Amino acid sequence: QIKAVSKLLNEKVYLVGGIVRDLILNLPNEDIDIVVENDANNFAKNLSEFLPTAKIRIHDQFKTATIFLENGLSIDIATLRSEYYEYPTALPIVTQGTIKDDLFRRDFTINALAIDISHNNFGKLLDFFKGYNDIKNKNIKIIHNISFIDDPTRIIRACRFASRYNFTIENETHDLILDAIEMGILERLSWNRLKNEFQYILEDKNPSKGILLLNKYNLLKLFHDNIILDKSLLKKLNLANKFKNIFAIKLEYWIVFLLVLTSQLNSKELEIIFLKFGFSKNFINKHKFGIEKRKILLEELNSKNKNSEIYSLLKNIPEEVLILLILESTRENKVKIKSYLFNLKGKVAIIKGRDLLELGLESGPHLKEYIEKSFLIQLDQINPSKDSILKELNL
Ligand code: ATP
Repeated sequence: QIKAVSKLLNEKVYLVGGIVRDLILNLPNEDIDIVVENDANNFAKNLSEFLPTAKIRIHDQFKTATIFLENGLSIDIATLRSEYYEYPTALPIVTQGTIKDDLFRRDFTINALAIDISHNNFGKLLDFFKGYNDIKNKNIKIIHNISFIDDPTRIIRACRFASRYNFTIENETHDLILDAIEMGILERLSWNRLKNEFQYILEDKNPSKGILLLNKYNLLKLFHDNIILDKSLLKKLNLANKFKNIFAIKLEYWIVFLLVLTSQLNSKELEIIFLKFGFSKNFINKHKFGIEKRKILLEELNSKNKNSEIYSLLKNIPEEVLILLILESTRENKVKIKSYLFNLKGKVAIIKGRDLLELGLESGPHLKEYIEKSFLIQLDQINPSKDSILKELNL
């Protein structure tokens, strides 16, 4: 269909960005980015007519459009653009450009490849900056010398791509990173842009590698001055990665990495970081378990041996915090937290409100207390049944 619309409108169309890189690496990528020569919105409108079940969203402000396909995939469509920066870290000035201009404004050679998917040139790889070789040689390389000055977030992106694909930041690019950092260019960057790139690193497959690279460039201080990537922190990050497969289905796992990375901070410092990340008050109150608070909690857990006690102590603590606690506790406490997560937390109460109402209790706070009490009794019994619990409740 893209070919047909390209012919109909006589538009040049190119596949660009991460998807081209990942196609060459033979890796999956569900973000389809295309650019057209003249008018992205018009192209999107025409394309959506060929795809009756697709939904289209036009972003007038940026002159881009997104088409949402029925299978959950989406296609982002933009018009070719050329960009220049009036001063370092400014937002770029955008004008219409050629495909070469459009690729020149990108961060690394590996991300500056395009595949022509126009009707009359379908399938041709466009490689103006030797990106194909850099992919094959596993190199992260910028396209021009002032790239990091124009946009310092690229320094963090370099760490991310190097870590994700196990690529090396090529020597000249490495030196330019050091120069840019020495110039203090990152300090001029807004927290919002930094935050997004930090978050992408934490969301990536193995954040520890990216964090190690950030540390190599002494950039963790942008995150917080008191984070020291010592052996113990590195061990926790690696362990968190191992746990990912078990927990990631239910959790936004990057938050576990955020908690691990900030695990040397106290609750006050954590609160400030969480606020900077834009978390809600409710989230902050629940997750604000600084180093001092976790120490007290783990000491308390030492003395809890009954299931009911463990359950009561841990029931209001978010899973992300519990995973962090597993990473830093003694063998005995690890067993207790795992038992809470994998066994106690999911138990279904045998005694329900209606059982107690049938026994003559009246509804209200009193009934709720009985329900809770009966659940704790159930947790401590080896073979709990309605009768055995009610007996212990003296009902
Ligand atoms: P991912 O697989 O993580 O989504 P991606 O390469 O698609 O990787 P995006 O952040 O979605 O990364 O960006 C899409 C494309 O836009 C990149 O491939 C790159 O060409 C370009 N790009 C993104 N951010 C920048 C930047 N800060 N400077 C220059 N080009 C950028």
